[in-house]
Amino acid sequence: MFNAYTKSIFINGSWQEINENATETVYNPATGSPITSVAYAGAKETDQAIAAALQAFPMWSEKTGRERSTFLYKAYQLMLEEVERLAEIVTMEQGKPLREAMDEVKGAAQFLLWYAEEASRNYGEWLPSSLKSKRMVVVPQPVGVVGAITPWNFPSSMITRKLAPALAAGCTAVLKPAPETPLSAIEIIKIFARAGMPNGVVNLVTGDAQAIGHQLLTNKDVRLITFTGSTAVGKHLMRESAEHVKKLSLELGGHAPGIVFPDADLNKAASLVLASKFRNNGQTCICTNRLFVHESVVSDFVQLLKHNIANLKLGNGLEKETDIGPLINQQACEKVAAHVHNAIEKGAVTEYGGQRWHQQGLSEYYFEPTILSNVTDDMKIMHEETFGPVLPIQTFSDETEVIAKANDTDYGLAAYIFTENTSIAIRVSEKLDYGIVGVNDVFPASPEAPFGGIKQSGLGKEGGHHGMDEFMEKKLISFGIK
Ligand code: ADP
Repeated sequence: MFNAYTKSIFINGSWQEINENATETVYNPATGSPITSVAYAGAKETDQAIAAALQAFPMWSEKTGRERSTFLYKAYQLMLEEVERLAEIVTMEQGKPLREAMDEVKGAAQFLLWYAEEASRNYGEWLPSSLKSKRMVVVPQPVGVVGAITPWNFPSSMITRKLAPALAAGCTAVLKPAPETPLSAIEIIKIFARAGMPNGVVNLVTGDAQAIGHQLLTNKDVRLITFTGSTAVGKHLMRESAEHVKKLSLELGGHAPGIVFPDADLNKAASLVLASKFRNNGQTCICTNRLFVHESVVSDFVQLLKHNIANLKLGNGLEKETDIGPLINQQACEKVAAHVHNAIEKGAVTEYGGQRWHQQGLSEYYFEPTILSNVTDDMKIMHEETFGPVLPIQTFSDETEVIAKANDTDYGLAAYIFTENTSIAIRVSEKLDYGIVGVNDVFPASPEAPFGGIKQSGLGKEGGHHGMDEFMEKKLISFGIK
């Protein structure tokens, strides 16, 4: 399945082998076994990739929106033709169940389609001047070369979510995928090449994150960094990009609260909470990380959760019946175990799960889906992003109190409320300090809507016309007329 391309990086329209010995192994987290190895590039190759992107920029940015749209639409069609194969690759390198991987790849293709449509609708503005002797026009123009740094939890869709709007806007790019999941990135580049992408428009560099990152940040020809990953690395990128005052678009960590009000449709809310919590095994930045349930319904609600959770099957994501795959690696598993241990030590009650999970032939990176009750504010799990399959539950009695608790975090990405009462839905969603609020909805990410956090969850938006705005400068052209 993985041919010689995987030892190469993609610069200026061709696959280049850098050095036979400079490779990095990619593992299947379900089994812990190696899949293949990819090129391990560094600073020199990154500068070559940046130079190629810079050279391609005038050509690409001067194309009409319609021409860029045609390319993106072709890439969308090619991606759809290969959904099953691409999904298998996502599952193999990332671990999520095949069903989720299929959804991810289809979603990734949807970003190509959406921005194929947006590419030709890149409108400017005509401003009425306060002076008769002036006319003013605002023209959107692409920022230039973009450095895109992507994470392992969505190896396919995080790439198209960044590159599709960048390319639609007229930018060129250097892509650095996560070392855990470079194969989906390689496949996307192959699709772009088959769709007729001109040389240099997107370049792919796999390898040394620090060295590649440093080059993207310090080379002044890169005008914007678009990043999804941890808040710690996001802060580092902000600091390093200050020297050249680069634009930044950052999707960072989250600590999503879910709030179940007494009038919620409990059956619906229970299945939504579990879908949100256990999607990708808890490894998404918008997974519910803390659940607040009104004291009058908590015992019924916990029973419903326990009933539904019992149906979830752990296993290798490539097997059809698997609902929950492995965590990405040993370190992720240890973090989850530490959060659970810390909670239990401080008095939490295990309602379900709570242990690491083992099965012959599978890796050590599995953890049982877990529900904890009697959770208190002094537990780590109530302050840090767990990024795993653990649902801690607290009760509440008062709306103002629960809003304050939900907002008591440095993060501000997504929050969820479950209620059938429109006044509660509007009142509470307006008061939650989050970039995204899902009301009876736990899948708020879509190509047409702006996705992004506030506070330490990030800067800027991805998706919608807002996502394309990130990649454009607004130039004022002011005419003095006679
Ligand atoms: P996680 O802890 O979930 O892996 P990270 O923020 O470490 O999240 O990683 C997200 C992406 O950022 C990955 O592609 C990773 O290789 C990259 N990355 C990590 N450290 C740096 C760095 N110093 N400079 C640039 N990119 C980095």
